[in-house]
Amino acid sequence: MSQKRVLITGAAGFLGSHLCDRFLAEGYFVIGMDNFITGDSKNLAHLSSNSSFLFIQHDVTNFINIEGDLDYILHFASPASPIDYLKIPIQTLKVGSLGTHNLLGLAKAKEARLLIASTSEVYGDPLVHPQTEDYYGNVNTIGPRGVYDEAKRFQESITMAYHRFHGLETRIVRIFNTYGPRMRLNDGRVIPAFMGQALRGEDLTVFGDGIQTRSFCYVTDQVEGIYRLLLSDYANPVNIGNPHEITIKDFAEEIISLTGTTQKVIYKDLPVDDPMQRQPDITLAKNLLGWEPKVGRAEGMKKTYDYFKNLTEAELHKSEH
Ligand code: NAD
Ligand code: UDP
Repeated sequence: MSQKRVLITGAAGFLGSHLCDRFLAEGYFVIGMDNFITGDSKNLAHLSSNSSFLFIQHDVTNFINIEGDLDYILHFASPASPIDYLKIPIQTLKVGSLGTHNLLGLAKAKEARLLIASTSEVYGDPLVHPQTEDYYGNVNTIGPRGVYDEAKRFQESITMAYHRFHGLETRIVRIFNTYGPRMRLNDGRVIPAFMGQALRGEDLTVFGDGIQTRSFCYVTDQVEGIYRLLLSDYANPVNIGNPHEITIKDFAEEIISLTGTTQKVIYKDLPVDDPMQRQPDITLAKNLLGWEPKVGRAEGMKKTYDYFKNLTEAELHKSEH
């Protein structure tokens, strides 16, 4: 049987690089695509001599040309942290809209199945808790986060339109906060932020009063959920995340114990439209995919801390402006 071929966009990023590893381990030929706008070639360095891996540097908002067949496409390219998409708002809108349109066109031409990376942010600051897939969300279209949330909502809409109108095989994963090795230290998301602060001997910055909640999923669990969804026959959106919810204030205390830092928590302003609560309802994923997370926060955070601890001094003190 010939080797199945998969294209993964956002391959040099956190989730994309872990997906490349997983598909290679499953025996696929993997084409990774990225323009490095928020990614890092270091995340793919271990694959440079793998004969089943090909990297193409390309911005997916421009026409995409791939030689040969494709069985699957996973569209993960997009800035993914609040400071990234506030810094590059237009690119964020473009990669979710024009980029997704290009990938849908490519999937149609290659008769490939396309899975898109959507997000819990489609629920905005949710008024339904925990969030089920049938909740339509509460998004401020014109707020600073709107560039990401609305790009992802448009991405879902155009994907369903291609599915309905062209009969394209599509899958939509709504990813809830996921963490693990290869997150960018300075991407501003809470886990790298707290880890970096603890390692540099700085106080931990909690935004607002810290009573907002998040539910953190370890990367191997997320990848397993995505893999199962891709191979399923279900075209509507599916939440993948870990329902174990915690306030950001309590989470900061957990990081203080884990890292043994003697620093304290300090409070800063809450970013505009920062959601107050977030917890996935994963009943659908359980029933449909037989999937549920296996890695608890204590174990996942320890592995993540081991990764950040091994960064060089230069990496630890590198600032991004
Ligand atoms: P990341 O920033 O580490 O990776 C994103 C990658 O996409 C980067 O390597 C970046 O260079 C690349 N990219 C961005 N625009 C591009 C373009 N126009 N052309 C080619 N490459 C481009 O982020 P991540 O956490 O790995 O997120 C990956 C995907 O998963 C994103 O689509 C994000 O919206 C989604 N997601 C992630 C989370 C999470 O908790 N990690 C939660 C919800 C959704
Ligand atoms: N947060 C924080 N301190 C930081 C970074 C983030 O208190 O240094 C908060 C942020 O306001 C949000 C939560 O942590 O309430 C999760 O933020 P993140 O950017 O990781 O993800 P998102 O808001 O997209 O879920």
